[in-house]
Amino acid sequence: MKRVFHRVLLPVCILLLSSCGAETAFSGKPPETDAVLAYSYAEKSVSFGNRPSGSEAIGKYAEWIRKTASESGKFTVSVMEFEENTPGGPVRFRNIIAEINGCSGDFAIVGAHYDAKKFLTISDFQAANDGASGVAALLAMIHALQNDPRKPPVGIKFVFFDGEECLYSYTDNDGLHGSRRLASEWSRRGLLKRCRAVILLDMIGDKELSLTIPANSSPELVRVFETQAGKQTPPLNYKLLESDIVDDHVPFLKAGVPSLNLIDFEYGPGNRYWHTSGDTLDKISGQSMKTVADLTFRILWNLP
Ligand SMILES: [Zn+2]
Repeated sequence: MKRVFHRVLLPVCILLLSSCGAETAFSGKPPETDAVLAYSYAEKSVSFGNRPSGSEAIGKYAEWIRKTASESGKFTVSVMEFEENTPGGPVRFRNIIAEINGCSGDFAIVGAHYDAKKFLTISDFQAANDGASGVAALLAMIHALQNDPRKPPVGIKFVFFDGEECLYSYTDNDGLHGSRRLASEWSRRGLLKRCRAVILLDMIGDKELSLTIPANSSPELVRVFETQAGKQTPPLNYKLLESDIVDDHVPFLKAGVPSLNLIDFEYGPGNRYWHTSGDTLDKISGQSMKTVADLTFRILWNLP
C-alpha cells in the first residue's frame, strides 16, 4: 500500500516540495521514530565503552555518529572541532552537526550531548541514559526524516554536543564546552537570529519516564510542550520544576534563543543511577526514547 501511494503521488510530492510555501507541504502528522532502532543506537553507543571528552573511545564514537547521520545523503553533516583548556588540561572537542532544510528559512536546534562523564573510580561506566539515550533519540529522528518525502516546517540542525560533562563543577572552563562554543560562534555569525528554538534531550531513556522540565526553559516552548504532552496516549508523566538545571541549553538561553530542556532527572530511587555504575542499558527503553523523540517532532511542527 505504501508503495502504491508513493508511485501515484510522487509527482504531486515533488511539486509540493518544490513549492514549499504551500501549506500542504508540511501539513499532517510529523514523522514518528522507531523504538527498536532507537534502542539499537543506544546499545551501539554503549559498545564504545567509557567515552569521556578527549578519549580515544569518543573519537571512534564521534566518527560512528557522523557516518550514521550521513547515511542517506539527505543531511549535511559537519564537525566543529576546537581545543579548550579544562581543569584537566587542554582537550580537543568535536560537535557533530546534521542539518536538513525546512520549508521556511528559519531553523530549530535539536541537541544532545554524546560525551560521558569522566570517572576515575568507575571503569565500566556505560552512560546508557546520561549520554547514549539522547544520541539514540536524535539518530532515530534523523532516520525518520530520511524516510519521509516531506520537508519539515523549519530547518532542523541536530547537534551532538561534546564536553557537556564537567570534570569537577560547572564553571566557564569546565563543562558545556560544545554548546558554549557553538552558541558563541553562531551568534557571532548572525545565525542565531534565525533560530526559533533549541530543544535539548538529556537522560530521556529511563524505563520509568517522567520528565522534569527545569525552570530555566522558555515559557513559550513549555506551553507547546504541555499541549503536546497532554495529547498523547497515555499522557506523558512530567512535572515543571521550580529549580534550574545546568545543561547544554543554557548558552543558547543566554544568547536569547528560546530553549527547552527535556530531561528526566529522577533516574532510579533518589536519582541513584545518575552518574553511577547503575546507569546501564537494562534501565532504559526504546519506548521512552521514542516517546520523547516523537514529542520533540510534534513540538517542532507546532513552534510558537
Ligand atoms: Zn551527566
